[in-house]
Amino acid sequence: METLVFLAKLGELTLKGGNLKFFEKRLTDNLRSLLEGVEAQIYLRSGRMYVYGPEKSGDAIRTALRHLIGITGWAQATVCEKDPEKIKAAVEAIAEKAKAEGAKSFKIDARRADKAFPMNSYQIAQFVSNDIFENGVLAVDLHNPDIKISVEIREKAFIYGSGEKGHRGLPVGTGGKGLLLLSGGIDSPVAGYRMLRRGMTVDCIYFHAYPYTSDEALQKVEDLAAIVARYGIFLRLNVIPFTDFQMRIKEKSPESYSTLLLRMGMVKVANLVASHIGAKCLITGESLGQVASQTVENMTCTESMAELPMLRPLVGMDKEEIIYEAKKIGTYETSILPYEDCCVLFSPEHPVLRADVAEAQEIFRNLDGEDLIAEAFKNREVKHFTAKNALQNLI
Ligand code: ATP
Ligand code: MG
Repeated sequence: METLVFLAKLGELTLKGGNLKFFEKRLTDNLRSLLEGVEAQIYLRSGRMYVYGPEKSGDAIRTALRHLIGITGWAQATVCEKDPEKIKAAVEAIAEKAKAEGAKSFKIDARRADKAFPMNSYQIAQFVSNDIFENGVLAVDLHNPDIKISVEIREKAFIYGSGEKGHRGLPVGTGGKGLLLLSGGIDSPVAGYRMLRRGMTVDCIYFHAYPYTSDEALQKVEDLAAIVARYGIFLRLNVIPFTDFQMRIKEKSPESYSTLLLRMGMVKVANLVASHIGAKCLITGESLGQVASQTVENMTCTESMAELPMLRPLVGMDKEEIIYEAKKIGTYETSILPYEDCCVLFSPEHPVLRADVAEAQEIFRNLDGEDLIAEAFKNREVKHFTAKNALQNLI
């Protein structure tokens, strides 16, 4: 039976100098978690990750590499003896396949790690590409080729095409833990993904105001958490019953402040959860100016409740960019399902746009809601998601 070989290029972590081993180990451990129960071997060597597996593991390995954070790209490789004719045949097969898929031009990227091999990289490139353009299969284009075919001469010869782009960044689990305020919207799942790509481990917190927000809304958030978990390896979702606190806001405060006070209350509960799970920051999907509650003044009010830094990875992105990314990571279709994460009953017609911190804090204090905050934390429900399970239905 044929052994499949995949080759991934490592990203930013290769710049890590003295810490390199720690980052590399994390990356391999993460891929192992994505491949739990799948027959496959992983090796790291000179800035490359090699994954070997039998044919039956192929789909699982491809799916795992499509969700692994920390690689710039990956491709399935053909491996053969270091025999120039065999290498040439493998290159030509890739060129023919690319032509059938619409490619017109190519470029060879040859590398000779084994200096005992009789041809240098320039000679290899010439030798393997000659018949491809002579026979009119593809034209040579060194600057903007439709396909780049790589040849690497190591203990064997590895030949591969352009492959797929990877999720660049640092391996999950190298950057501390963050607590993501995850709503059912488009933005917060993307915010979580962004922090995962900076190496963070992300747990989530969702505020549920049953029956004003429906069970479908909760289900939607769970589905989103599962999708984020495909990249996050493992995550927990803390579901916080927040109806009583919302009712208190409705009873005791000016309507224009209700959204802002709700966000401030969320941060209060998030502080408690973060301290409980050892998270070092809060993460939200806010983007400056996107909606009324996301002015810098209102963010200041929300932030004034936080005991940890609040990270807003989307703060400078516009909606189009965020949607593009949501589609790319697979959360968009779920996020646009119609179940609201916040009931219109609690959305003011004229929200305060530039609240004053001292005033907002005063109104917040007048809610007298500390007991409700503590209660909400106490009654949280925790759900677990693993990448392995979340990837299962994609294979
Ligand atoms: P999203 O698309 O993430 O819902 P949004 O554009 O709808 O964001 P807001 O509703 O103002 O913006 O929420 C701002 C941020 O507050 C969200 O990105 C999220 O991090 C957090 N948030 C809002 N509602 C909830 C909720 N019910 N549970 C947890 N976090 C929430
Ligand atoms: Mg929202």
